[in-house]
Amino acid sequence: APGPHPALEVVGLAKHFGGLKAVDAIDFAVARGGVHALIGPNGSGKTTTLNLLSGLYVPTAGRIRIDGRDVTGLPPHARAAVGLGRTFQNIRLFRSMTALDNVIVGAERPDNPAGLADAGALEARARAALAFVGLEDRADEPVASFSYGHQRLVEIARALAGNPVLLLLDEPAAGLNASEKVALTALLRRMTAKGLTILIIDHDMTLVRDVADRITVLNFGRRIADGDAAAVLREPDVIAAYLGE
Ligand code: ADP
Repeated sequence: APGPHPALEVVGLAKHFGGLKAVDAIDFAVARGGVHALIGPNGSGKTTTLNLLSGLYVPTAGRIRIDGRDVTGLPPHARAAVGLGRTFQNIRLFRSMTALDNVIVGAERPDNPAGLADAGALEARARAALAFVGLEDRADEPVASFSYGHQRLVEIARALAGNPVLLLLDEPAAGLNASEKVALTALLRRMTAKGLTILIIDHDMTLVRDVADRITVLNFGRRIADGDAAAVLREPDVIAAYLGE
């Protein structure tokens, strides 16, 4: 059952690179369930925010809570244990390994020796994740033989196998053709139907319009809009920020 906390809370989050305020004291919350999109023009601070959320960067200021737990000082693997899953803009799979073995890597929790010992349960969880994305028949093939779109699905399966509370998707539509984008949209809907919360970062506005329930918009490192997707996309400041690109 969902807890009382939002899936994610970001408070006063900032990251400065020298004099540049890449992320300039932003606040937003991701409620449980559904798809929340973080959007903004090039250079607005989306990738920096994602790297702060996943623990790759140490913030200059601010706090990050996942499922009510303050994770601000935790390294990436510890955030995974709290319930954060992610995919990368540039696919990060072991190409010579099978799809199944790649997904098992995601199902393992280094902090949970009991989970590690039960190899059968891990494999079952990994196969279920591959079935969820429609790749159960290819579980035992090396990822190097997969199309780019299928490699993206393996990445999503790997993140799902960790049973995340919050799944961060970094430009999941990048490099996909039109029919793969349609399939991705359907997959996102099936994930949220299972109760998963998704935070998506993308500048593909067609995808964002199709899947986002709520949107936070960044521009020059500041939050310029936040809330219901349809209302946010009508805001003059948001339209102006995109026209200025
Ligand atoms: P977006 O993902 O929205 O395109 P980024 O988060 O990548 O934006 O970048 C925000 C700003 O921070 C840009 O001006 C970018 O040049 C700068 N920036 C990003 N990463 C670094 C870094 N490691 N060092 C210095 N400046 C950076």
